[in-house]
Amino acid sequence: MPPDALWLARMPAFFIKTYGCQMNERDSEQVAVELRARGYAAAASEADADIVLINTCAVRDMAEQKALAKMQNLLGRKRRQPALIVGFMGCMAQSRGGELAALLPRLDLVTGTQKYHKVADYLDQLIARRGPDMDSLRAPIVDIAEEAGSQNTIKDHPLTVRQATAFVSIMQGCDMRCSFCIVPATRGAERSRPLADIVSEARALAAAGVKEITLLGQIVNQYGRREWPIVSGRSPFTQLLYALEKIDGLERIRFTSPHPVGYRRDLLQAFRDLRKLCEHVHLPLQSGSDRILRAMRRAYTVDRYRRLVAELRAACPGLAITTDIIVGFPGETDADYQATRRLVAELRFDNAYIFRYSPRRGTPAAALPGQVAETDKDLRNKDLLAVVDGIARQNAAALLGQTVEILVEGRSRTKATRQSGRTRANKIVIVSDAADLTGQLVPVTISDTSTYTFYGEVRR
Ligand code: SF4
Repeated sequence: MPPDALWLARMPAFFIKTYGCQMNERDSEQVAVELRARGYAAAASEADADIVLINTCAVRDMAEQKALAKMQNLLGRKRRQPALIVGFMGCMAQSRGGELAALLPRLDLVTGTQKYHKVADYLDQLIARRGPDMDSLRAPIVDIAEEAGSQNTIKDHPLTVRQATAFVSIMQGCDMRCSFCIVPATRGAERSRPLADIVSEARALAAAGVKEITLLGQIVNQYGRREWPIVSGRSPFTQLLYALEKIDGLERIRFTSPHPVGYRRDLLQAFRDLRKLCEHVHLPLQSGSDRILRAMRRAYTVDRYRRLVAELRAACPGLAITTDIIVGFPGETDADYQATRRLVAELRFDNAYIFRYSPRRGTPAAALPGQVAETDKDLRNKDLLAVVDGIARQNAAALLGQTVEILVEGRSRTKATRQSGRTRANKIVIVSDAADLTGQLVPVTISDTSTYTFYGEVRR
């Protein structure tokens, strides 16, 4: 047996590196649960792993470049350690498929966004077909086919440690076709899980001690619109929220990422009715210019968005609103950008994720004339960030001295003596306390802030 094949005598250890959004995190979690159930061990670090899987993002070119560089690095290690198994999962794998295998010889596995539940089978196959001659193992497994019902496969949770919060995937795909976005191509058409399945998953999480769930979907507040009817004025999404509200032990409900057009009267009413629905919405704006919104194929105007913000704030006092904005979309003039800047200053978002437009293959916007120079995108990005940070600093100062409820999620990542939690408005709060408060809802008086992170003392 070659020395690097010694690990075949025991169950291999896996490591999953995840890029991108919370849906990718949740999908990676599901793969990890299935691999553990199959007897694979979770490696303590990438360096200790016999199998390294990269769950990829395709939303921006930079995310793809990072994943490709990471894989180049792993393939370098594979030259010294031929038994190492490496693979891509997720959005870039879906959009580039077999092209990745051609680009990166000795890649073992490429699986798309509807195939997470097949990863364990494919790893079993890769291992089973290995003999002492590692060089015979070069043909990768590539599977990026569509699969009916794949939205129902992201449903298990590790719950190996005491856990205060969990993500729950409720739908996959998107039919909106915004002109800049590759997601409809990487995640497919909208498909939703049955409401009863989601409720029983949430009930099991609550029984295991989880206090807060975040519902996930590419266009989460359009959940079920293709599958189920509106009942008594409530969309399937609000029907789900009202059903989740009744679960004993569950204290907080969040959802991401919604589309502004999905906020109809019934969802606004849910913010008035449901105690567990947290005071935070993510409301992607993308641009403050109607001309650019039309070119982006966003189905709202600046005026409609502005009214929606007012309606949401009226329905839910203390609501925090965060947003996404793209600067440098093709054809964006300085006047368009200034309109965005003015709207951001007017609406006073709690935070805004600002992205420089990145052309994605196969999307209509990539072929539009008037592509904006990178230097201009950069200037607009920096300028808008300064506006957003300035507002956030003012908002943060207003929280000083106030007592707020936080759900403690665990030890702070930067300092083990501290614990980290979130307010209902999704602000991160760090506390120092002798007792382990993980999973508890505690009142905290805010004493300090560094704009997006707050510090405070637990009230007893
Ligand atoms: S709604 Fe969101 S995920 Fe769907 S196409 Fe538009 S930006 Fe992409």
